[in-house]
Amino acid sequence: MSTQARYLIKFQHGDLARLRARLLEDVSREQFAVLLGKTQKINGHTIIKVVDLLFLEQADYAQQSVTFLRIKKDFIHRSLVELTNRYDVDTLIDVHTHPFSQRHVAFSPTDDADERGFFQFLNETFAGIKYASIVFSQRQYSARVWTFRSHAIVARSALIKTQTSREGIESSDVHASDEKIAVADGSIFQRSALVLGLDVMRTIMHDQVISVIGVGGLGSVLAEHLIHMGFHTINLIDPDVLEVSNLNRVVGAYYEDAKQKRSKVEVVRHHLTSINPHATVQAYHKDVHEKELESVLALSDWMIVATDTHASRLRVQELSIKYAVPLLSVGVNITVKENTIEDMSGEVITARVGDALCLQCLNRINPIQVASERHPEKTIREELVKRGYVTGKEIKEPAVKTLNTFVATMAVEVLINQYTEQHR
Ligand SMILES: [Zn+2]
Repeated sequence: MSTQARYLIKFQHGDLARLRARLLEDVSREQFAVLLGKTQKINGHTIIKVVDLLFLEQADYAQQSVTFLRIKKDFIHRSLVELTNRYDVDTLIDVHTHPFSQRHVAFSPTDDADERGFFQFLNETFAGIKYASIVFSQRQYSARVWTFRSHAIVARSALIKTQTSREGIESSDVHASDEKIAVADGSIFQRSALVLGLDVMRTIMHDQVISVIGVGGLGSVLAEHLIHMGFHTINLIDPDVLEVSNLNRVVGAYYEDAKQKRSKVEVVRHHLTSINPHATVQAYHKDVHEKELESVLALSDWMIVATDTHASRLRVQELSIKYAVPLLSVGVNITVKENTIEDMSGEVITARVGDALCLQCLNRINPIQVASERHPEKTIREELVKRGYVTGKEIKEPAVKTLNTFVATMAVEVLINQYTEQHR
């Protein structure tokens, strides 16, 4: 699974396509660019989020041919000044092309020597600047992160991740194994593959980790859809236990589960692995604010938030931006006044990092609601509810499965479209 790679370089939506378009526009000469990024280390993984792309003007090249490249010192100097003056970046990624190659690409001995020397220079000159590099052929890439192992300089192979797998390109360092083609006759997904095609099937079955935050009436249906569509690695996150009043809409939940006060995540996990015993489903009976869940979400390919609190959505969005993990926000609303249904609606918000939208700017997170849910002072939390600023958590909102199913279906359709050629 590519997300389990130890070194990841993650691009915001559209940036890898933009970078490649620019650098491979003219394949008669090598091209160069500098990316500024932010490095996060979590649980033994290094995740570099690409924040900015710096392109060269023609005048910034000292020499440029189909197999050779020299950049004027001035451009590198300007990049380093920007890097060291900004608070949001700490990593320099140099990118160049080997345009003579269509497919397989590898760093040359000249690249090795240049980059090793530059890394040494960075370390002697600046404190805490990190360094990585990427080389593109016309269709593939090789990437690495420069680091130290017991004081010796080493380069670690890295994988590039894009917001949608559609935008990604193949690494020359990883060979897709033949075992991955597992949609044989008589397999569970034989008929899905006829719809989605083998490439999409292979991606969602072998290369994607989906985290579902909130597995109630909406999240449980969503998770069931995911397993039926062929997703194989799913994390379920929810701190609640099942109640009898949930049985009108949580799939996989039985009366006995509510009587035994089993956790929602455990009940839904059992349901999913009963459908597909080959799937890896992790159940986290925890609040999304707990530290342990940060790495779970950081290493996901998509987060789907289907909770009913504003604080949890705020936290998920924070992690989405920090680790460049795309986010789907799913919600339903039913308003009943004097025995009349005034509103029955739902929505799916797609927020890939780089899409330039967030749940706050869309007015989906109310800061007073967050305070009423998360403020450390109990008296303040209660007072906000009592004064009528927000509704309390113990109020049972109206909920029916038909609406949930409809919106969960919409959400999984939106997700699947991220893997196919359909555009939304
Ligand atoms: Zn090179």
